[in-house]
Amino acid sequence: MQRTFSIIKPDAVRKGFAADILSEMDKAGFKIFAIKKMFLSKTQAQGFYAVHAHRPFFDSLTSFMSSGSIIAMVLEKDNAIADLRKLMGATNPANAEAGTIRKQFAGSIEENAIHGSDAEDTAAFEIGYFFAGYELV
Ligand code: ATP
Ligand code: MG
Repeated sequence: MQRTFSIIKPDAVRKGFAADILSEMDKAGFKIFAIKKMFLSKTQAQGFYAVHAHRPFFDSLTSFMSSGSIIAMVLEKDNAIADLRKLMGATNPANAEAGTIRKQFAGSIEENAIHGSDAEDTAAFEIGYFFAGYELV
């Protein structure tokens, strides 16, 4: 079993898609290991997306991520990291394959409904950024 980290982003929560996205994860075989609804501050969003600090969209991205509630979770499954990326679809929903979460629920390249860790080291960082040890027993 492998763990990955995911966020249902503020656009999808606002539009009422959270339950549909959780259902897609369930159908694809992911088990929810930990989950919580949160509201990120701009500073917390900047820390999470620090790898993108020098990208032109960083300020807009971190404002978006702190614009409303998110649902943060740790998911468990064989090959969870790669399989979640596949289920999410391409960053830009215009390029996402049919049936993916972003194709179904994302509005734009920025407001793209879901985040998923892209590697083992980023999954470990992101799980630790959002969840304390006592929330992961
Ligand atoms: P995430 O890291 O959120 O899972 P990703 O790995 O598919 O998404 P990244 O390249 O890591 O994509 O970009 C992080 C996030 O920044 C994207 O999910 C999107 O919300 C936003 N983003 C990426 N590229 C752009 C862009 N060109 N314009 C605006 N926002 C962007
Ligand atoms: Mg990414």
